[in-house]
Amino acid sequence: MTDRIVDFLRSRRPEGPCLVVDLDVVRENFRAFRHSMPDTRIFYAVKANPAPEILSTLAEMGSCFDCASVAEIEMALAAGATPDRISYGNTIKKERDIARAFALGIGLYSVDCEAEVDKIARQAPGARVFCRILCDGAGAEWPLSRKFGCEPEMAAGVLEHAYRNGLDAYGVSFHVGSQQANTEAWDGALATAAGLFRELAERGIRLRMVNLGGGFPTRYLRDVPGVPNYGQSILDAISRHFGNRLPETIIEPGRGMVGGAGIIKAEVVLISRKQADDPVRWVYLDIGKFGGLAETMDEAIRYPIRTLRDDGPSAPCVLAGPTCDSADVLYEKTPYPLPISLEIGDEVLIEATGAYTTTYSAVAFNGFPPLQSYVI
Ligand code: PLP
Repeated sequence: MTDRIVDFLRSRRPEGPCLVVDLDVVRENFRAFRHSMPDTRIFYAVKANPAPEILSTLAEMGSCFDCASVAEIEMALAAGATPDRISYGNTIKKERDIARAFALGIGLYSVDCEAEVDKIARQAPGARVFCRILCDGAGAEWPLSRKFGCEPEMAAGVLEHAYRNGLDAYGVSFHVGSQQANTEAWDGALATAAGLFRELAERGIRLRMVNLGGGFPTRYLRDVPGVPNYGQSILDAISRHFGNRLPETIIEPGRGMVGGAGIIKAEVVLISRKQADDPVRWVYLDIGKFGGLAETMDEAIRYPIRTLRDDGPSAPCVLAGPTCDSADVLYEKTPYPLPISLEIGDEVLIEATGAYTTTYSAVAFNGFPPLQSYVI
């Protein structure tokens, strides 16, 4: 919680649930990445929070941008990034969107199969491509599963296919899973990437780049290692696997760049019990899964929550959102301790919510407006 956010909430008293993002924290985070990984290019993952103020601040500081759609590419361009600082990092793209991106000057694309290479070869001739390899996401609180990437043996063929179709087979990418608490998680994928570099070299194709993805965590309830620990561990792993032929590297931090910069102000709408002597209270807030807290799915991300009554004793509560969908429950399997004296109408502050909240909020489910955002 920063003083600037406290002042903003006190003086502006915004109505309804809202996210407030402190740009100073985003700046500090960018500097920490640059300082800890000075030879790595930073591609901010726009999906984490595409607020124009965040994008233009990062663009001014020299960041590049990892975009998942043409709309995100247009946002990054509008924020001042030049096309050479933008990648189209989604492995699933419509062919006509590739054509639009190419017309906008984008020359860097991700792939994980030959069919995607074919689309790029047709619509973005000569572009650079990197192939995403599967990563099991062990150690991550928000793993990215098998949806993206291919087995390394297949990646070699995909990259060769790109090369044979006139594209620049540029490198390899992976994502170790979001909110990755293990600083060593990059090691295995880097070993695989180095193996691919060697194998492609034998086929006469010189890969040059490793995209290390995101995964850098935000501090929620538990302490997490700092960016320098990740930087050191990744650098050690790169040296171990690539020796003195170091590849160009890219990181794509999303959560680690903006998560800790934002706080959601919300309100207690109702406190009830399911029977008179039920020890567990149900606390309903004016924000839930559909208002932006989608990452509480399977109770994966557990946000720190503050109230003005935190000095007193607390008891476990089921915490839920305000909509009529029974899936709109934030924490039930592991109830959340909240003050016994909590009352209807109390304000609650949900911390570390700068990433993956505004963009996940529904347009108007139950008539509730999308999550309001203020960037200060
Ligand atoms: N890069 C890609 C391709 C992603 O899909 C994601 C997240 O989904 C990110 C980067 C950002 O990851 P994180 O928020 O863990 O830094």
